[in-house]
This record gives sequence, C-alpha cells and structure tokens, in this order.
Amino acid sequence: MDGPDPVRPLVYRVGEFEVSVVSDGEFRLDGGAMYGMVPRVRWEPEDPPDDRNRVRLGLHCLLVRGPSFTALLETGIGRGWSPEWDDRYGILHPPSLVESLAAVGLRPEEVTHAVLSHLHFDHAGGLRHLPRARLVVQRGEAEAFRDPPAYHRGSYASHRPIPLEGALLLDGPGEPLPGITVRRTGGHTRDHQVVLLRSKGETLAFFGDLVPTVRHLPPLWTMAYDLVPMDVIDRKRDLLEEAAAEGWWAHLYHDRDPRPCRIGKDGKRFVAVRGVPGPGR
Ligand SMILES: [Zn+2]
Repeated sequence: MDGPDPVRPLVYRVGEFEVSVVSDGEFRLDGGAMYGMVPRVRWEPEDPPDDRNRVRLGLHCLLVRGPSFTALLETGIGRGWSPEWDDRYGILHPPSLVESLAAVGLRPEEVTHAVLSHLHFDHAGGLRHLPRARLVVQRGEAEAFRDPPAYHRGSYASHRPIPLEGALLLDGPGEPLPGITVRRTGGHTRDHQVVLLRSKGETLAFFGDLVPTVRHLPPLWTMAYDLVPMDVIDRKRDLLEEAAAEGWWAHLYHDRDPRPCRIGKDGKRFVAVRGVPGPGR
C-alpha cells in the first residue's frame, strides 16, 4: 500500500470505539530535514526522495466515534494554500479531508472535537473545514501559534488564522474526552502532546510528530524540525517502552500506509508490526 486510497476507508475498533482513518491526501518535505542527523545513505534506500530531494508523507487523521462525541485526531493540511505552497510542499488532493469524511458517512459539521498534537500547518490546516469542531490542544501551542518561535515561524503558518476562541486549552496531561487522554511530550514543539485512545484494555497511541512515520521508530531518528531533539529521543523511548510492555497499537500520522501497527521489541530494538486491532481481524 503506497499512498492514500480514496475509495476504501479503513475502519476498525479499539475496544468500544469505532476508528476510521480519514486521509487528507499527501504532501512532501525535504528528506534531509525529515531525517535530521540520520545520514542520507541510511534513509535514502528506505525512502527515496524526488528530484527536488523531497520525501512523500501521508496525512492520515483518525476519526473516533464515541457515545457523546465525534472527534478527529489531527485535521490534515487543508485546502486553499497559495499555488507557491502547493508547489513547494507538493500538496496533493484528492482525497481531501472533506471527501474522506464523506466516505465514512460524515459531514464536516458533524465533527464535534479536533484533538491536535500541535498546531503546525500540516496538522492544523484542515481546522478551517470543520465549522463546529472544538479544538483541543495544549495551551502553550495556542500561544506558540499566536507568537511563533523564530525556529518554527514557517511551520505554524500563523498568517492563516485558526479558530482558537472557544478552544479547550490544556495544561499538561488530561482526559479531554471520555477514553481519550493526552500527555504533553514537548520535544517536537515545546508543548507537543500525544493522544491515547483507551477502551476495554486496548490502547491506541496517536504519536503526532513524536514518531511521524514508521521509519522514525528508532529513538535517535529525529527530525531537523524538532525543537529539542534530546527531548524527542527521551519521550519517544519512554513511550515506546510503555507501548511495547503493554502491547499498544500506534497510528503514525505521516506514514503513507494508513494501517496502524502494534509496538513490540526485538532485543533492544523497537518493532512495529502492521495490522488492524479489534476482534476477528
Ligand atoms: Zn510538526
């Protein structure tokens, strides 16, 4: 599977939750920046770049339907960027977020919450297409969006406003929705968070940009985009240890393959085995 499939949405269960992968197409980032200090000879065979040295990245949001909410984890990159940005970042639709929602029988206004790991444009860009969704994010991310650190000014793309009024702003860990908990990790941005979906003994972790793709599973495979790489390494290692010990599933937003994987260990190495959670699969 290599790229978004607009026709057949992937739907599975995590305990009582129905989870659907809702894709917003794909985009491209510089391969060197995406793999940080990893030498090109290591990443290139696994992820060959295009003729502008860019690698292809998925934009796979997760739609979680609970008894009292319909929440989207990340919102995609969204539409309506300038032609320059579309070209620079190789932004490619279809499918768009709205089309993928339609494929699982939902109109954008039926999404009640948007839980975001952080507010970089490739995660928050789709908020403008969700007129009723209440944003759930760490308070420091909202502050960073309003006044971005120089290092991340381009990544927040604050020239295009997002609906921060009415947002549920969190200060550290919490359970903003029943069964959905967050943990502030920092690292990629100062107030990046991961989202854990837990029900009936099953856990699915939404790693945001802490583990953007399956190739970033080794803790030392960080990105040049990470604000504090040492924090990424430490938080990633801690969370993956916990995931391996408890048999968590992981959804990796920027993977081209939309399927989740189960985290385990082979000796000292973390491994991710593709599959789909839920009974009878
Ligand atoms: Zn980011």
